[in-house]
Amino acid sequence: MDEFEEKIIVDKSVLNEWKKWARKGDMRVKGYKIVEAPRGDRVDRISRERFMIVERPHAVVYQHSFGLLSRFYEGLIEGKLYGTRCPKCGLKYLPPRTHCWNPSCKLEETEWIEMPTEGVIVTYTIMAFSATPFLPELPFVLAYVKVGDAATALPIQVKEIDPIDVHIGLKVKIKFKEERVGDLMDIYAVPAEKPHPPPRSKEEIEWLKRELKIVEEWVNKHFPKK
Ligand SMILES: [Zn+2]
Repeated sequence: MDEFEEKIIVDKSVLNEWKKWARKGDMRVKGYKIVEAPRGDRVDRISRERFMIVERPHAVVYQHSFGLLSRFYEGLIEGKLYGTRCPKCGLKYLPPRTHCWNPSCKLEETEWIEMPTEGVIVTYTIMAFSATPFLPELPFVLAYVKVGDAATALPIQVKEIDPIDVHIGLKVKIKFKEERVGDLMDIYAVPAEKPHPPPRSKEEIEWLKRELKIVEEWVNKHFPKK
């Protein structure tokens, strides 16, 4: 059995009957499963654990309003980055905040401004494990990027760079995917300069390469490129 396969221990599933309850709008728990499934921090360090999955029959299209943050998400579709600025203290926010968090501004409502698409990595991590949909992309870099002179940092994936070369202070450019739906995943960052990571010991570089290789081998084995 594949280590990522879900092994059913107790099966009280009602999935084949869900329509019956969903049509009545009765969303109470109707069935459950107890499974053994993976947990861990890196793909090769997976242990198996017992989890319980409950079933609540829904028949809905999930609608969600972005409310006062709508301008930001519309901007993603247009290929523009919108942030907000406090008219009182001038602080800029990206991700946007609808009200200023500076205590002296007493939640003053902010105004929309278009932000540049250049930024700097404030912090980052190299992902060695992820939720199922992103496993084939491992190992990838997730960073917090301060765009322009924003006071907040934007969580974003960094592409087109060897993870070993990523470093705090690296200038990046925000790019928009071809097909956009108004979601944070519509954007990613790429290096805007030649990376200049801080001096690292030979041991550290070797350790990093070894760790990355383990993850890459695991991904190639489980998601062979066609
Ligand atoms: Zn303010």
